[in-house]
Amino acid sequence: MNTTFEPPSGLCGLSEAEARERLDRYGQNALPEPRPPSILRVFLRQFLSPLIYILIAAALVSIALSDVKDAFFIGIVLLLNGIIGATQEFSAGRAAAALRGLEVPQATVIRDGVPRVIDARVLVPGDLVLLEAGSRVPADMRLGSVEDLQCDEALLTGESLPVRKDAGADGSEGRATAFAGTMVTRGRGIGEVVATGPATKVGGIAALVAARDLSRPPLLIRMERFARTIALSVGLAMVALVLIGLLRDLGLHQLFLLAVGLAVSAIPEGLPVAISVTLAIGMRRMAGVNVIVRNMPAIEALGSCTMIATDKTGTLTLNELTVTEVRLPDGTIVLFEAGRDLDACAVHSPTVATQAVRERIADLLRAAALPNEGRLVLDGDGWRGVGDTVDIALLSAARKAGLAQEAIARDHPLIARIPYEPDLKYAASFHHGGDRVRTFVKGAPETLIAMADRMATATGAIAIDRAVLMAQQADLAGRGLRVLAFAEGEIEPASQEELGHRHLVDLVFLGLAGMHDPLRAEVPGAVQACRRAGIEVAVVTGDDPRTAAAIAREAGLTFDDSQVVTGDSLRQAEAEGDDALDALTRLASIFARVEPAQKLSIVLSMARNGHFVAVTGDGANDAPALKHAHVGVAMGKRGTDIARESADIILTDDNFASIVAGIREGRVSYANIRKVVFMTVSTGAAEVLLFLLALPFGLPMPLMPLQLLWLNLVTNGIQDVALAAEGAEGDELDRPPRAPKEPIFNGVMMRRLAISTLVMGGGGFVAFWWLLNLGRSEFEARNIVLLLIVLFENFQTLNARSENHSVFRLDLAANPLLVSGIVAAQALHVAAMHVPVMAETLDLAPVALADWLVLLSLAASIFLAVEFDKWLSRRAAIAGDSDEVAGNTS
Ligand code: ADP
Ligand code: MG
Repeated sequence: MNTTFEPPSGLCGLSEAEARERLDRYGQNALPEPRPPSILRVFLRQFLSPLIYILIAAALVSIALSDVKDAFFIGIVLLLNGIIGATQEFSAGRAAAALRGLEVPQATVIRDGVPRVIDARVLVPGDLVLLEAGSRVPADMRLGSVEDLQCDEALLTGESLPVRKDAGADGSEGRATAFAGTMVTRGRGIGEVVATGPATKVGGIAALVAARDLSRPPLLIRMERFARTIALSVGLAMVALVLIGLLRDLGLHQLFLLAVGLAVSAIPEGLPVAISVTLAIGMRRMAGVNVIVRNMPAIEALGSCTMIATDKTGTLTLNELTVTEVRLPDGTIVLFEAGRDLDACAVHSPTVATQAVRERIADLLRAAALPNEGRLVLDGDGWRGVGDTVDIALLSAARKAGLAQEAIARDHPLIARIPYEPDLKYAASFHHGGDRVRTFVKGAPETLIAMADRMATATGAIAIDRAVLMAQQADLAGRGLRVLAFAEGEIEPASQEELGHRHLVDLVFLGLAGMHDPLRAEVPGAVQACRRAGIEVAVVTGDDPRTAAAIAREAGLTFDDSQVVTGDSLRQAEAEGDDALDALTRLASIFARVEPAQKLSIVLSMARNGHFVAVTGDGANDAPALKHAHVGVAMGKRGTDIARESADIILTDDNFASIVAGIREGRVSYANIRKVVFMTVSTGAAEVLLFLLALPFGLPMPLMPLQLLWLNLVTNGIQDVALAAEGAEGDELDRPPRAPKEPIFNGVMMRRLAISTLVMGGGGFVAFWWLLNLGRSEFEARNIVLLLIVLFENFQTLNARSENHSVFRLDLAANPLLVSGIVAAQALHVAAMHVPVMAETLDLAPVALADWLVLLSLAASIFLAVEFDKWLSRRAAIAGDSDEVAGNTS
C-alpha cells in the first residue's frame, strides 16, 4: 500500500456544490444536544426551596384562620419572588450557553482542490480531511495516508495509550480508521470521511458523549453552604423569638407569621443566584476582552493569579515571521528586505562572487522548502500562506529567490517525511535522487549542528567548525531573531518504513536563517500593568535563550542573565530533587529551549513556590500543563483542539495583553461578589438585631410580619443583582493580588459587617423605643421604623458599591440598573404608604415632612459609619504599602 503523505495539492476532494448537496442528504455532523430548560421550568424551580415551603404553609395557616388578606399578600410575594428569580436565572443560563457556542469545532478539508478550515459541523461523507497532532478527529474517516500518526482513543476504548494508525492497513479495520471524537496525539494524516454525526461510532454510544458542563465554582458551593449556615442561625434566632413572644403572650398566629417574615427577610436566599449572575456577567465581560471562559472557577482564579508563564511566539509576538537574513557557514551575510527579490538583497561577503553565493543560497532554501509542510497559494491578487508560520516564512524567502516550492518538489520526488513536532525541534524529508536517497533537514541550530559533520563553502564541503557556527547563531539570536538551520545528506536507499531519525547523520550544514517576528504593540503596556498589579511574568519557550531574552527585554521585562535558564539546566535540577528545581524556578524569568513536556514541571514548581499560576499553551504536548495549572490559557487561533479542551480559558486573539485584561475582569467579578455578600448579609443581620433587641427589652414587635416580607421586596428584590453588574472601579490592577486562600469574610469585611449591623439594627431599635416613649402609637412607630429601615438598606446598597472608595466619588450613572432599582423600590414604598389598599394591608400611612427629614438624616448615619470604616482601611492599606517599600529597600 502507498503510505506516502501525498501533498494536498495532489488531491481534489469534493466540490462545494457536491458538499452542500450531501449536507442536505446526511444532515449536520453533530450529535443531538440536550435542550435547555424552558422558562416555565426555571420558574417552577424557584419554588423548590424550604423557605418557600414555609411561606406557602404560612399562607395556608392564614387562610385557615380566615385571614385571606395575609394569604393573598403572601401569594403576591411568592409570585414576585418566583418571577424575579426565574428571569435572573434564565438569562444567566442563556448567556452561559451563548458563550459556550463561541467554541465551534473546526476541521481542515480539501474541497475543490484547496485546503480550507471549515466549521466541522458541515463535514459530509466523502470529504477529505487533514489531521495533525493536537486535533480532534471530526468524523469517522478511512485513512488515505499517514505520517507517524497516533490517536488517543480513550473516549471509545478507555485505553489511554495512543494507538498507531496505518493507511489501509489490512487485517484490523480499526488501524486504518480514525474515529470521531478521538484525539490525534502525534503525526499527520489524510482521511476520507465515511460517517458523520449520529452515524459515527461515538454517535452510536451517545451516553459516552458527556456534554461539557460548566463546573460549579467552589466559590458558589461555599456560598450555598454559607447561606444554609445563616438559615440555620436565623432559624435558631426565630425559635428564641417565638419563645420570648410566647412568654410575653403574643398571639401564636402572629408569632408564626413573624418568624416566617423575619426568616424570609434575613436569610440571604438570593445570594447564590446573585453570585451566579455575577459570574455570568464576568463571563460576558471577559468575552468582550477576547477571553472565553471554559470553567466558571477560572473567573475567580484569574483574579488571584500571581504568575503568568507565557509562550513567546504568537503570544508576546505577532507570529508573523519574515526571513530577514541568511548566514552561510563562511560568514557571508545576505540581507532579505521585505517585498524585494533576491537581486535586491544586499550581500555582505568577505570573499566570493555573487553567483557562487546565489547557488549556495539556493541549496539552503531548497532544504528549507522540501521538509516543509506549508504552502503558498495565489489567492485573488496576492499570496496567502497555509500552515506553520516558520514554514510559510521560509517558502516566501525561497520564492523571493526565484525558487517555487512546486518546482523543487517536482525535481525531488518525495519518499517519506518526519513532520515537525516541538519535542523534535526539526523536520526532515527523504527524496529520490538517482540511485541514492537525499535527505533535507531544517530545524533548531544546536540539533542540526550535532547531526552534521561537514559544512558547505564556495569551494565545496569542508570539515564542520561548530564553534564558528554557534557564534553565528548567537549573533542572530541576540538580536531577537528566530534562528533556523538547514542541512542535507545522502544515504543508501532503504525501504520507506525504515527511513527515520537514525539516517540523519553525517549531514552537510548549509547555513542559518534569521527570522524577525514583531512584538505585539499591546504587550509592553500589559507587562507594565502586571508589574503594578503584583503579577510576575515568566517566558517559557522552545526557542533559543538569546532570542527569548531579546524579545522579553523588548516587551519590558527586567531580568539579568542569571535569570535565563534552559531546559537542560531544569532537567539537571529536577534530577537533584524538587528543592533544587524550586530554587531554580523561584529566580528564573526566562525558560528557553524547554521541551513542551517540561512545562508541567515548571508550573508545578512555581505553585510549590507559592504562586498562583496562569500558563499559556497551544500544542498537543501542552495539555498536561494547561490542565494542572491554576489557570490554563489556550490559544484560540494557534491552539490545537487538545490544548483548548484542556484549558480553563481561551484567548480568541492569542494575545498576552488579553490575559491581563482577563485578570482585571476576574478581579472585578470577585469584588462584585464581595459587594453582594456585604449588602445582603449586613441588611439581613440588621433586621434580626432589631428584633433581638426589641423583644427582650419588652417592646412590642418593631415590624409586622407582612411588613418584613415587604421590606425584603423593596430592599433586595433587584438591588442584589444590580450590584452584581457593577463595573470596574478603575484601580483593579493597582493592587497586589489577594491571597487565593483568603476567605470572603476577611478582617475588613467582618469589621464592616459588625459596624453596619450595629448602626442599622441598633438605629432602628433606638428609633422605635424613642417613638414609643414620645407617646406615638405602635402603628405609627412601626410605620416610621419601616421607612427608616428601607432607607438604611437602600443607602447601604450604595455603600456596597465600593470596598475602598467613598460612595460620593462613585459615578451614579455607571450602574443605571442599580440606581433605577433603588429609586423604583423607594418610590414603590412611598406609593404603598399612600395607596389605601396597600397601606391598609401593610399597616402603612403617609409620613409627615418633618419626620421624613429626621429619618433621612438618621439613615444617612450609615453613610458616615461606612465612610469612616473605608477611610480606616484605606489608611491601613497605605501604611501596609509603605511598610512593603521599606522592607524591599532595606
Ligand atoms: P516557541 O516557544 O517560540 O513557540 P517552538 O517550540 O515552536 O518555540 O520551537 C522551538 C524550536 O523549534 C525553534 O526555535 C526552531 O528552532 C524549531 N522550529 C520551530 N518551528 C519549526 C518548523 N516548522 N520546522 C522546523 N523547525 C522548527
Ligand atoms: Mg511554536
